Amino acid sequence: MCGIFGYSGPKNAPEVILEGLKRLEYRGYDSWGIAIISEECKGQSAKSGIKLEKRIGAIGDLTSHFSLNTHHSSTGIGHTRWATHGGISEINAHPHFSTDKSFALAQNGIVENYQELKKDLLKKGYKFESETDTEVIVRLIEEKLVHLEGENVLRNKARLPGGERLKEAIRAAFLELEGRNTIIVLAKDGQIMAARNGSPLVIGINDGEVFLSSDTLSFAPYVKKVVVLDNGQMVSYNGKLDLVDIRSNKPLLCRSERINLKSSKVDKEGYDHFMLKEIFESPYVVSQVVNQDYKLYEDFVKQLKKAENVYTIGSGTAGIAASQIAFYLRVFGKIKAESVIGADIYEYYELLTKDDLMIAPSQSGETADVLEVLEIARKKDLKIASYVNMPGSTMGRISDYPFASHAGPEICVMSTKVFTSQIAWGYLLAKVISGKSEEGKVNLKKLAEVIDQYLNSGRNHDLLKKLAKELAKKQHIFLLGKYQNLNIVKEGMVKIIEGAYIHAHGIPAGDLKHYAITLMEKGVPVVVVLSEDVAKDDVINAVNQVKARGATVIGISSKPHASFDHYIPVPDTGETSAIMNIIPLQLLAYYMAVELGHNVDKPRNIAKSVTVK
Ligand code: GLU
Repeated sequence: MCGIFGYSGPKNAPEVILEGLKRLEYRGYDSWGIAIISEECKGQSAKSGIKLEKRIGAIGDLTSHFSLNTHHSSTGIGHTRWATHGGISEINAHPHFSTDKSFALAQNGIVENYQELKKDLLKKGYKFESETDTEVIVRLIEEKLVHLEGENVLRNKARLPGGERLKEAIRAAFLELEGRNTIIVLAKDGQIMAARNGSPLVIGINDGEVFLSSDTLSFAPYVKKVVVLDNGQMVSYNGKLDLVDIRSNKPLLCRSERINLKSSKVDKEGYDHFMLKEIFESPYVVSQVVNQDYKLYEDFVKQLKKAENVYTIGSGTAGIAASQIAFYLRVFGKIKAESVIGADIYEYYELLTKDDLMIAPSQSGETADVLEVLEIARKKDLKIASYVNMPGSTMGRISDYPFASHAGPEICVMSTKVFTSQIAWGYLLAKVISGKSEEGKVNLKKLAEVIDQYLNSGRNHDLLKKLAKELAKKQHIFLLGKYQNLNIVKEGMVKIIEGAYIHAHGIPAGDLKHYAITLMEKGVPVVVVLSEDVAKDDVINAVNQVKARGATVIGISSKPHASFDHYIPVPDTGETSAIMNIIPLQLLAYYMAVELGHNVDKPRNIAKSVTVK
């Protein structure tokens, strides 16, 4: 799930690329690199080859030791890595040079057949420096260049000009790659080429300049028009943008679209971390759900009502949101919806029919395992709806009903405001289905106000900070919830695991006595989320059962209870209580991460947009 960036135009490329990579860092931050066309003589177009620099670690930490940005250049590419093949080292970092340094290449994806390809290339005498699958692409392109040369001699054909030859070699090599891959190549003549099959690639265009990137956010400050590359397409830029179909090599029309990126400011705005800032934006994102354009709903609701099966699908936090959306569809929409984790849908493939409907909430709209499912759904003619935060995403493009969350950029790798937006949307959707859209909107407006008051009371933060200090010392933390709060405790679990690196376990309160009760003993912390709903008595029974075995109970509820050792009060917002209840859990995980001195916005080992499988 690396980030790819390329630039060509009048601005100073290394600086633009560095800025773009910083905005892409949520996609991977173990190492990074930039390659530029070196223009030693300013003001002249004399190109003197490619200069390349790579570093380990996050970009923010290392810019001072970086020298390429002091060079002047109009063209270059960059990459921020989340390693899949080969350890974290400068050699394995991208971009990778060709043997003769005539081009440099960066990749997002996994070459699934890299071992076979590498074996073959080794036999042919190619040498490898890194352990990556990426270098296999580089050597394969070199091999294709040699092959093209040979063909021309053999057939006595005129030699293709250098740039065209490289383009042809990239196309031929790309066709041999298995897996979901996107590559970007910088040629020493200043040409940038990119090919896509799976991982995202968007092109931002202005007069006389182009930006190529894994997302629109990275070039948001500069661009109004974008071209979204589809799978199987290749683009090249040398003052002019050319698009071809990779398989047939036929030219394609470059269709640009206007995109509204104005709410894409990336700034902590005085907060210590993006995570805290983004939690504070929850009231705004809930109000954005209310302020949607309702035109899309009419036909969508009809389809939902007549669908044979409704599947909600997502991965990680979006998978939990998908489950909560299905909950609201069942409870308020009376729709038999079922949620499935993106990576776990194999057994459903044969069952999917054109009478089914699939709903995918996603922050990036690029999650590889969900996209793979949607591509299968597409082939089987299912109706697809998505609820995506990133403008111009693949998921949005392949959906019949592309809903947008308009939550603004979410920079912290741990999702908070986008999760809140996704479940608020699920709630409103269910209310629209039941013919109570006005009631739903009123409830969400009220919820936005209540969350705002909650977030702006210092007392709530003090309580959670104190609790975070205690919980940060524990090895295991249990969370109990039922009915509307079951997914909420699961998401609380995810946030604690991501932020605090502490083992947490979200237990369905009703299932406690069937297994997890064996783990209850003196001092074990159990966070219970309790609402005034049909499940309340069952949850209280579970609380008493853990309490009887010595557990320390932390209650998140609108009313105190005799069994709570610690009480975290939350306002009762009725039908939207679950959405309210996620806020203290997100804050708790935040304060735990801070207490433990972790890199809050970039937890170890994970990246935000998982575009590899
Ligand atoms: N497979 C490449 C590597 O490990 C790219 C990884 C990615 O896109 O996440 O360097």
